[in-house]
This record gives sequence, C-alpha cells and structure tokens, in this order.
Amino acid sequence: MNFHNTLKFAQEKDQQDSLKEFRNEFIFTSDNSGNPQLYFCGNSLGLQPKNAKNALENELTDWAKWGVEGHFHGRKPWFHYHKFLTDYSAEVVGAKPIEVVVMNQLTVNLHLLMASFYQPSKQRYKIIMEAGAFPSDMYAVESQVRFHGYNYDDAVIELKPRDGEHTLRTEDILQSIEDHKDEIALVFFSGVQYYTGQLFDIQKITQKAHEIGAFAGFDLAHAAGNAEMKLHDWGVDFAAWCSYKYLNSGPGNVSGVFIHEKHSTNPNTFRLSGWWGYREDKRFLMQRGYQPEPGAAGWQMSNAPVFGMAVHLSSLELFHKAGIHNLRNKSIELTNFLEYVLQQVQIENPKLKFEIITPNNPNERGAQLSLLVLENGKNIFDHLTNNQIITDWREPNVIRIAPTPMYNSFEDVFKLGEVLSKY
Ligand SMILES: *Cc1c(COP(=O)(O)O)cnc(C)c1O
Repeated sequence: MNFHNTLKFAQEKDQQDSLKEFRNEFIFTSDNSGNPQLYFCGNSLGLQPKNAKNALENELTDWAKWGVEGHFHGRKPWFHYHKFLTDYSAEVVGAKPIEVVVMNQLTVNLHLLMASFYQPSKQRYKIIMEAGAFPSDMYAVESQVRFHGYNYDDAVIELKPRDGEHTLRTEDILQSIEDHKDEIALVFFSGVQYYTGQLFDIQKITQKAHEIGAFAGFDLAHAAGNAEMKLHDWGVDFAAWCSYKYLNSGPGNVSGVFIHEKHSTNPNTFRLSGWWGYREDKRFLMQRGYQPEPGAAGWQMSNAPVFGMAVHLSSLELFHKAGIHNLRNKSIELTNFLEYVLQQVQIENPKLKFEIITPNNPNERGAQLSLLVLENGKNIFDHLTNNQIITDWREPNVIRIAPTPMYNSFEDVFKLGEVLSKY
C-alpha cells in the first residue's frame, strides 16, 4: 500500500471506508472549553455509543414500571438477560454461543477460571506467562499460586524479550514451554499485550500448551473487539475480557468469558458455583446439590447486573453490524497509516526522538502503536493533549496511540501527525 501524508489522501481513504458511518454512532470527548477532541484511547476506555443512554433508560423505565416482575415481563426479561449478549459476544471472539457468557468483571473472572483450570499437582504446578503482564494479571496469578501453597518465584515462569528487543518471539515462547514441559500446569498470556501492543499467536501457543499437557488461557482485555480470533477452532481452553476498552461499554463494566465446549458442557468440570449457574429449569426449586447449566453459563454466580449489561449490549449490536472481520481489515490499514505518518513526521521534525516498539508486522499487532520516546516524552504527550489529541502515557516513557477502526478515521490519524510535526 502506498500512503501519502496529506489531508487529501486521508479524506479519500475515508471516502472509500465502508465502515465510515459508524463514527456517527459515538460521542467524541471535548475539553473544558468545549473544543472537540480526537480520541486515540479506545484501548483504555472506548467512547460512549450514542444509543447507550437509551438502552440504560429502557431498563430504568422497566424497573420503575414492573419492579420485580421485570424479571419476566420487561421488554428484555432480566431472568434471561445474559442470553441477549451471548451470540454477539461469541462473534467477537470466534466462539460457539454455548462457550460464552457475560458476567462479573475481568479480574474476578480470571480467578474463577483459574479455579477451574489451574489445579496444580506436585509435579505440574507452574504457570508460564509474559513478563510485565498487566498488573492485575500478575497479582491474580501471584495469589493463585500462593493459594495453592507455592511461591511466585518458583511457580511462575515469566518470559522476557531477548536483549535489545521489546517483544517476545513466538519461537521463544514455544521453546520455553517445551523447556518446562513436565512442570507447567497453565500457559497464561494476554491476547494483545497492553504495553507493547503485541498480538500473540494464540493458536500456536495453545497448540504447544496442549502438546505438553497443560491448559491454555488468555486475558483478551486488549484483544476483544480488536483482533480477529477463532477461540473455538484454535482449541483455547478459556479466556476472559473486559467490555470497556475496544468494546466501548463504559467504565468498569462487565466482562465476557469463554470456556471451550469440551470443558463447559462437561458438568464435572470443577467451577466455583453460585445460584445463577444452576440449571435454569430448576433454579427456583432451591434444592441442595449443584447442577450446572450447560456451557459457560454454568459458571455464572450472581444474577445479571442489568444496567451495565444493557449498555454493553447496545455496543455489541454495533460490532455485530460492522462485523469483526471488516473492522480488523480497516484496522490493519489504519494502523499501517499511523505507522507511516509517524515515520514521516519523525523525518521532518528531528526533535521527535522515538522508537515504535509495537511489532511492525500487521499480523502481530492490533490497533495500537506504542512509542518509546527517548527524549521529552511527557512534553510530547502534553503537546498532543493541549492540541486536543487524546492518547495515553505509560510510565516511564511510552505514549500509546490506538486508532480504533470503529470510530477513528484516516483524517484523525493525519491530524495527529500534523500536530506532532509542530512539536
Ligand atoms: C484492562 C485490563 C484489566 C482490567 O481488569 P478489571 O478487572 O476489568 O479491572 C485486566 N487485565 C488486562 C490485561 C487489562 O488490559
């Protein structure tokens, strides 16, 4: 693809973009004086879909009108509420509907999934994961191994990039799994690394985990709604993701869970249980003895937090309409264009000294580029913010920029470059 760093070129690309209308479904942020901003933080907290408010108000109205009867008589009866989100969530991650449920929040779900899939034995008790994982994942894993009587340094194998490199090579991940093949109980990676933006080869990692007799689980916080995945076909054992990053469902909102059908339809797969995972036809008989609902729904603990789920549903509808495959195709172009624009402005403006640490192979990244800034990083970040360009800053020296295909345009990317060139 030949790119040009001009407004005209960017606008032409937008004209050809079959997803361009989706931008109008979102509310863009503005500064204190009401100046509109360009938003590149969809990897951290996605923008608000315009229909979110309506979706939420509908549930408030049904609650006011029906009270407890809303469980059965509302427009979307709360008793079944999680089911309204299942098909669309399955599309997002490439799963069968039976393998997916929306419940709780992400880190809580990681613990619940590790209760099922991290059951260490005397010999096989280690977890292998990327070094520098998102802190919540590190703390979750740390407490899981301690819960089973191990200590972190012994039971957790952290993989670091080679000297002088910023991201892990797939071959090195596979080799490390092989090197510890008799000790590993769980291979646990993110889908897209939050700091570097690296998209891991979920399929190969899963295959290798299975080859050595371990489970493979993934935290897809930065991958859901971003990368195109085939969790079912790839045989992934479990995964969880949040709904508020690329999935645009609002701060701290609910999480999605995937449990492969080979485990989730087996009533004997251990899970920590609550009443909402109990088989639906007998749930209200309130009997002793747990009998799970088949599929991932059998991992639910509590009844659905409907207000958050309503907002999430309103956003998932947009993903269903746009199609994750189309979004990914646009995303590859848009991120490649951002990479090109950044390279151009760095040539034009010698004051900009940064290195893009995200892999340059489009198959190894999603919608984010991470700039390791060698000089005046915080100043450059502030310059962007002061000019209505919202990106994010990660200590000690990284600016993350995420052009999300759902609502960012090629013109947005061009304008970011224009502001940067004037630093
Ligand atoms: C954002 C993120 C989280 C956040 O977890 P919550 O439980 O939703 O607060 C966890 N893990 C990863 C990898 C993340 O990127």
